[in-house]
Amino acid sequence: MTQLSLYDFYRLIPKIDLHYHLLGGVRLETMLHFAKKYKIDLPVTVAKSFYRKYQLPGMPRKGGIEALSFLYSIMKDSSDYHKVITEVAEDAKAVGLRYIETFWNPSDCPISYNKLNPELIKSVDLAEKIYGVTIRFIPSINREASPEIAVDMVKNIISNPHPYVLGIGIDYKEQLAPVENFWKAYKLAKQNGLRLTAHCSEFGLHWRNVETSIELIGCERIDHGYTITENPELTEKYANEGIPFTVIPSNTYYLSQWTSKDEWQKKHPIRKMAEAGLNIIPCTDDWHIHNTNSANCYLTMVEDFGFDLDGIRTMIENSILAAWISEEQKYIWKKEWLAQFDELRSRLSDEPTIDKEHHIHYKRP
Ligand SMILES: [Zn+2]
Repeated sequence: MTQLSLYDFYRLIPKIDLHYHLLGGVRLETMLHFAKKYKIDLPVTVAKSFYRKYQLPGMPRKGGIEALSFLYSIMKDSSDYHKVITEVAEDAKAVGLRYIETFWNPSDCPISYNKLNPELIKSVDLAEKIYGVTIRFIPSINREASPEIAVDMVKNIISNPHPYVLGIGIDYKEQLAPVENFWKAYKLAKQNGLRLTAHCSEFGLHWRNVETSIELIGCERIDHGYTITENPELTEKYANEGIPFTVIPSNTYYLSQWTSKDEWQKKHPIRKMAEAGLNIIPCTDDWHIHNTNSANCYLTMVEDFGFDLDGIRTMIENSILAAWISEEQKYIWKKEWLAQFDELRSRLSDEPTIDKEHHIHYKRP
């Protein structure tokens, strides 16, 4: 039996990503390809400034939200989305990512929802045939646009239902518009059987946004939600209820808060969330834009955050249970994937070495 390196282990274990922005998965060369196709003047240096991999101190740089907005403006045809979905599936396969629930923002897209959605469905079917990766959709509200636009988005989803469109989310700059502004869109979505999630309490913003998303809006899953640990009572409640939190080890805001790894390890909210027993699920957010992938995501959870492989196994299980798939599918994946996890783990020559001081025994309550 071949022995495995740790990186190969992270690469080969079957994984799920529940917090993946479709256009965050656009490769640099694909961005340049779209610019060329539509005769948009985009110097390589400017294109690179959207990608963390190429962002150097002192050089012009742009954030993930700017990158997504820019990409929506230059992707003008459904064939562009087809190309992106195909590449997303190819990249996913390369690192053992088997299932993705992906966000996209219909209100930012120059192609109408009614026209684009059937094309997206065809593209994911084809990608699944070629790469064996399943992709499902969570149309997401751009909170920088008006609540009325969000209601229109939900109406379009309802009048063009498809089993691959699972629910709705909300993203973009949380400080500009709290989730409660969009209660009508969420209410309509819920009444029509769509599942609900929301980006909240990101960028160090108040834990109240998590509370509002769950208690008022009725979200069943939370994207980010890091400041919830500042409210121990709610943290305990949500830990007991098992509310899934999709967390991002490569989150830009927290990466920029502490330069010393020692400080980062002590204060990072993902560690605090785990220690409080919250149901956390590591995800990538913006794959190429943030220079990450699913294997690196789990590697970071071990090497930087101090989780052991029992903890990683729990998170893989968390992700299967939190996915918006049938109970039967959850049962099958749990049985097969955890057996694969154990088999791959038995082929490691050594378990990862984790500094005793930072080691977290992660177990859900
Ligand atoms: Zn996100």
